[in-house]
Amino acid sequence: MHYDVIVAGMGIHGLMTTYMLARRGLKVVALEPEMVGHDLGSSHGMTRVHRRAYFEAPFYVPLLKRADEIWQQLTDEWELPVLSRTGVLVIGPDDGRLASGSLASAREHGIPVDVMSPDEAMLRWSGLHIPQDHVAIFEPEGGVLQVEQVLHRLKLMAGSMGAKFMEGCGLVRWEACPDGVKVRHEQKDPLIEAGWLVLATGANLVETCRLDLPLQVERQYQVVFMPKQHGLYSASDFPAIAIDRGDELMTYGIPDFGNGVKLAFHHGGRSGIPDRDGRVVTEMEVNRLREVASEWLPQACGEVTGKWTCLYTNTPDEQFIIDWHLASRRVLLLSCCSGHGYKFGPVVGEIAAQMIADGGSSHDISEFRIGRFTGN
Ligand SMILES: Cc1cc2nc3c(=O)[nH]c(=O)nc-3n(C[C@H](O)[C@H](O)[C@H](O)COP(=O)(O)OP(=O)(O)OC[C@H]3O[C@@H](n4cnc5c(N)ncnc54)[C@H](O)[C@@H]3O)c2cc1C
Repeated sequence: MHYDVIVAGMGIHGLMTTYMLARRGLKVVALEPEMVGHDLGSSHGMTRVHRRAYFEAPFYVPLLKRADEIWQQLTDEWELPVLSRTGVLVIGPDDGRLASGSLASAREHGIPVDVMSPDEAMLRWSGLHIPQDHVAIFEPEGGVLQVEQVLHRLKLMAGSMGAKFMEGCGLVRWEACPDGVKVRHEQKDPLIEAGWLVLATGANLVETCRLDLPLQVERQYQVVFMPKQHGLYSASDFPAIAIDRGDELMTYGIPDFGNGVKLAFHHGGRSGIPDRDGRVVTEMEVNRLREVASEWLPQACGEVTGKWTCLYTNTPDEQFIIDWHLASRRVLLLSCCSGHGYKFGPVVGEIAAQMIADGGSSHDISEFRIGRFTGN
């Protein structure tokens, strides 16, 4: 069987790419060693924060505006609560990276935000406690994405447009020729050929792309708590939050959609892909989050209703990789993680589809070249 494109990996970026290519009428097959929605990669764990006043760097904002448009279209078309516009509140010292970076991006790109004093924010959201020397910046159009629902729906929709899915069947080896690729996978009849290969293999990218890229995998964990006071952190009137704690790890929280409030730290995890034991979230880790919440969200942490580990795949500058393989323009690499890539899913899929079907993207992806690491 000959395909236009083989996509390796069915996390958010592989599935969005498959969906966008299928929507353009290309014949696509996606490979994945696990089952869609599994909890060993980076795209699971109920929810992700979506925001556009981007403290990380203003150059992301045009991409986020496009991602936002597509998330909204999918929410409307699929009649699913894909994106819930709870708003996003960032809290921190006004000269800290989170507050100053968010404000700079908002001003440069006209993203609506309200700058609030601690008292104003605490009056509006009584479940919060904010020190007086901090500032709160509220982005009303930010929100929360329902991650597993998105993955399953993407598979269903792409499948209805002709895409083929091979779960329990990872890519084992690939070879590029001038006019296409040959891929060996884990099943009985293991050779498929296509015009292009997309490697969206998350934490396995270094292994699957066979380049010496400076990617570092980091174990993270998230815990969901039933609030002590019912309704105080409900997603109907409490935003997603991110807290800059100065020299301590940044912490973020996702409001209660019925299962509880989800809390996590940003970075600070052990390096490497954890083994089975390392996938367990320990009592000590749960208590670290309780301790932080007792200061900022004092009523948030009752009983634990869910906990997961998850992987960040970090580049040294925390920017993405979206580029052709150094050895072949038939092989496209997608590493859109460093802990902030889910929200970009639709625009990453659109870019990948444009690069393959049109020979280039209409979006500015110059920051995401592999050459910044290799000197090419
Ligand atoms: C705890 C946590 C919180 C986060 N919070 C946010 C947030 O709030 N907002 C945000 O925007 N982003 C967030 N992120 C980042 C975001 O979730 C990731 O950037 C995104 O999920 C990465 O998706 P991916 O498709 O690249 O990787 P993955 O989801 O890991 O998908 C890669 C897939 O490739 C498969 N694979 C591996 N080897 C092979 C092979 N040989 N052949 C075929 N397939 C293979 C894997 O099994 C996996 O399914 C968070 C990440 C974590 C871990």
